[in-house]
Amino acid sequence: MTKVINHIAQALEKKKTAFSFEILPPLKGQNIDTIFSNIDPLMEFKPPFIDVTYHREEYLYKERPDGLLEKKVVRKRPGTVGICAAIQNRYSVDAVPHVLCGGFTKEDTENFLIDMDFLGIENVMALRGDAVKSETYFKPNKNGNTYAQDLVEQIMDLNEGKYLDEDLLNSSKTDFCVGVAGYPEKHMEAPSLESDIHFLKKKLEAGACYVVTQMFFDNQKYFDFVAKCRAAGITKPIIPGLKPLSTRKQLNMIPQRFSVDVPDELVMEVVKSKDTAAVRQVGIEWCIQQSKELKEAGVPVLHYYSMGKSDNIRQIAEAVF
Ligand code: FAD
Repeated sequence: MTKVINHIAQALEKKKTAFSFEILPPLKGQNIDTIFSNIDPLMEFKPPFIDVTYHREEYLYKERPDGLLEKKVVRKRPGTVGICAAIQNRYSVDAVPHVLCGGFTKEDTENFLIDMDFLGIENVMALRGDAVKSETYFKPNKNGNTYAQDLVEQIMDLNEGKYLDEDLLNSSKTDFCVGVAGYPEKHMEAPSLESDIHFLKKKLEAGACYVVTQMFFDNQKYFDFVAKCRAAGITKPIIPGLKPLSTRKQLNMIPQRFSVDVPDELVMEVVKSKDTAAVRQVGIEWCIQQSKELKEAGVPVLHYYSMGKSDNIRQIAEAVF
């Protein structure tokens, strides 16, 4: 298997933009065929790597017969590790599991990474994660990592053979290539884009190899972000992440939840669409235009957020690759 950073280098050398995408584990109760049926139609576009998101626990409150509320901790989309192993096994394509600070102690993280290493997974995306739904601010676990930068440092320690248990003798080194998240329109909690870029640089200096961006719908935001990162001394690859709009509801949800602008022109096209199928088509056309311009600008990889459904991503890939 290969490191994402090498896939990026190959794409740059061949001057050929590669296609990659991110999938979500299915809701608990569904089987692995749900995943394969979404990946199969995208394989002809030869993705060098596929990301698999990680979903932390949620708190549900169930009313008991006595009227009191019972708190239940559930993970609605488990299976990230298993899906990554299944992808590598079935398609011989590098799988990139996402790993979070939130919900993990450092011990859990170490065990997660050991599993990855044993499965022959050499790439990992290091993220902080969001606050659990019932909390306003992100709270790290007791004995967990606070920022993605801390998580990158822990992974780099393991790459040096430094485990949490300092008494281990002859411990073997892992060899993970680590990606991190970047935000062209700044992370929602960051006081300014400059401070966010400052901390992005710290994640890369800690050892991360490349950046994948949050979705954006205006390419100029990406180009400006890359220029600012370069001016701040960031030299590592910055892969654009794209998501085609697919429902009318997302017009309100995306700006609020991800702090990402939707350009007026796109908003109006969605508003004027007569049904969901028409909205989906608007999203596809917009994403094709974005992809073509980014490809023209020479980005090494275009990374698509599939959100578990691949029909729209396939239509985009057919038009772009
Ligand atoms: P960080 O880099 O830790 O940054 C978080 C905030 O803290 C930022 O505002 C930053 O400016 C600030 N900051 C960073 N370092 C420091 C520091 N040392 N001191 C002070 N402030 C600091 N979420 C999931 O739950 N599962 C996923 O699989 C997932 N995949 C994602 C993939 C991509 C490509 C992206 C863009 C996001 C993904 N997310 C995922 C969402 C992500 O977890 C959230 O956006 C989260 O709020 C921030 O994660 P981060 O790794 O960017 O955090």
